[in-house]
Amino acid sequence: MAYDSNNIFAKILRGEIPCQRVYEDNQVLAFHDINPKAPIHVLVIPKGAYNSFMDFTIRASFEEIAAFFQAVTKIAEDLKFGDNGFRLVINNGPDSGQEVPHLHVHLIGGKRLGGMA
Ligand code: AMP
Repeated sequence: MAYDSNNIFAKILRGEIPCQRVYEDNQVLAFHDINPKAPIHVLVIPKGAYNSFMDFTIRASFEEIAAFFQAVTKIAEDLKFGDNGFRLVINNGPDSGQEVPHLHVHLIGGKRLGGMA
């Protein structure tokens, strides 16, 4: 599937629409989800044009993949979930309910989340 450069996260990356940024480096941006499912709900996205987890892990370099997941860990540390933990969710494709066709990791926590729906 071709990357749609008009998706909402591409617009956030270009600064065309605002976000509540929590972290940024040269490869990664993280911001609060506009419709949080828990007290803490942050989205982490690569700056590269990847439409899904599968697209990213197939096409990105090992360096990009490592930098992305190391940034997720750093952001989780900064959010201070501590020993209570947190949930990582990556939706991939229509059956998962992926709404935005730009890879994003949901970092969710701040309360007991219960079982997966
Ligand atoms: P997914 O269903 O995995 O594609 O998740 C997309 C997420 O993006 C949802 O949790 C939305 O609430 C969130 N979202 C959509 N638009 C924005 C936005 N402008 N800023 C922050 N989060 C957004």
